[in-house]
Amino acid sequence: MDRKILLTEDEMPKRWYNIQADMPEPLDPMLHPETYKPTQLPPFLFSSELNRQEFSTDRWIDIPEEVLEIYRIWRPTPLYRATRLEAALKTPAKIYYKWEGVSPPGSHKPNTAIPQAYYNMKEGIERLTTETGAGQWGSSLAFATKLFDLECMIYMVRVSYEQKPYRKSLMHAWGAEVVPSPSNRTKTGQAFLEKDPDSPGSLGLAISEAVEDAAVNDNSHYTLGSVLNHVLLHQTITGLETKKQFEKIDAYPDAIYGCVGGGSNFSGAAFPFLGDKLKGDRKDLDVVSCEPAACPTLTKGLYEYDFGDVAGLAPIARMYTLGHDFIPPKIHAGGLRYHGDAPILSKLTHDGYMRAEAYHQTDVFDAVIRFAQTEGFILAPETAHAVKAVIDEALRCRETGEEKTLLFLNSGHGHFDLAAYDTYFEGKLVDYEYPTELVKRSLENLPKIK
Ligand SMILES: *Cc1c(COP(=O)(O)O)cnc(C)c1O
Repeated sequence: MDRKILLTEDEMPKRWYNIQADMPEPLDPMLHPETYKPTQLPPFLFSSELNRQEFSTDRWIDIPEEVLEIYRIWRPTPLYRATRLEAALKTPAKIYYKWEGVSPPGSHKPNTAIPQAYYNMKEGIERLTTETGAGQWGSSLAFATKLFDLECMIYMVRVSYEQKPYRKSLMHAWGAEVVPSPSNRTKTGQAFLEKDPDSPGSLGLAISEAVEDAAVNDNSHYTLGSVLNHVLLHQTITGLETKKQFEKIDAYPDAIYGCVGGGSNFSGAAFPFLGDKLKGDRKDLDVVSCEPAACPTLTKGLYEYDFGDVAGLAPIARMYTLGHDFIPPKIHAGGLRYHGDAPILSKLTHDGYMRAEAYHQTDVFDAVIRFAQTEGFILAPETAHAVKAVIDEALRCRETGEEKTLLFLNSGHGHFDLAAYDTYFEGKLVDYEYPTELVKRSLENLPKIK
């Protein structure tokens, strides 16, 4: 039995999979933030090809050769069998993980940063703006823009800017400009700083700043590292590779796990398999989103129309949400602190094709340390949520004797998150109770759509 299942560069998929082609019901339309009328992504913010992909119902979308050429720097990525973790857990379950930590920025995010930079470059855009939380998306976009000779402007959530200096160094190494958000660069940032000069910032607020910057600069477009349909589409490269890798060993997962911040890494891994379930095969496939108990969008939020950003500049979409002005507590999995979730993943969850679990960060760190001490890799605190879920299921299989095949998307390494590990070792990691009152208040501010 092989420890890792590899593909050659020739075997790398050349098309992305669009699950919108196979959804039993179409998505609810995206709405304009002021008129509440159906709308596209604003053309002054997004490339027209990305806009086309956002609403496409074509099942397959070709990956441009220029994108494949860059993917080949680190793709195809390995699928691992976690034999040492299985042995430590004494489980009859088989645990597999798709390892995305081998990309230059260290996560799955360049899978979409590269095509986003490419299409914008093709359409004559010279500069891209974005927000970043823990810094994984910012560093991925900095990497991608540099390879296509574009300028890059990044609004980094202030708490991360201060607590996570090393991904900022990555962004600088790849030539991007980075400012803490709220910043003085935008009207939205200025308004927030006036109210609260010590604001820790939030992803929703940083999005507003990056959107405003792109809107007022003609040569600039905005990019988003998660949530949108075209981002999930680009991430399916991971699930498509995984499917081929399972074919090589004549296996198929019984359950798939992934952490969910906005939903992109997990959707990318799961959708090529979930497509089989939607077509009526593999009816028992269990598809499980793993989220933090401190930001429990899928498990405690509402499935309603909401804004994607605090200023209400971005289009509104129907999704699970905690309310666009919900500012989640400062947990260490910064990449999972978004108030909403991808509309496609939200709808498939709401309609019962997939489900969600929430975990506390101390349990999550217990699990990821177990992983480090058996499999060796030091994972991102975000990814650790999926590890917690898989270990729980593997232990359950030990009780029942089930020889299930479990798969998780291993979204990135934690080499720049070691401060969070230290907090855990010092016993200072705190579990946050679900702030019911705050969320209730935020949910009162949803847009009133008739
Ligand atoms: C950004 C990030 C996440 C969360 O974002 P999704 O869009 O839900 O994938 C998870 N893991 C890592 C390593 C990340 O960088």
